[in-house]
Amino acid sequence: MKIIKEEKTPWICDKCNKELQLNKVKVVYLGGNFEVELMQCPECKMVLIDEDLALGKMLEVEKGLEDK
Ligand SMILES: [Zn+2]
Repeated sequence: MKIIKEEKTPWICDKCNKELQLNKVKVVYLGGNFEVELMQCPECKMVLIDEDLALGKMLEVEKGLEDK
C-alpha cells in the first residue's frame, strides 16, 4: 500500500497549468513597500497571495515589474 504524502503539492496556475515558482515580488502593504517571496506563475506572473497576507486586504501586488 502506498501512502502518498501531499504536503508539498506544487501550486499550479489555473490558466497556464504551470508550476508556480518562489519569486521575490514587490508588494504595497499598509502603505509600505515590501519585497516578499511569493509563489508566482512564470508565465502570466500571477501571484499566489499567502493567507496571512491576504488577511490584510490592503495588500496590492505590483504587477508588471518585469516590463522590459
Ligand atoms: Zn499562469
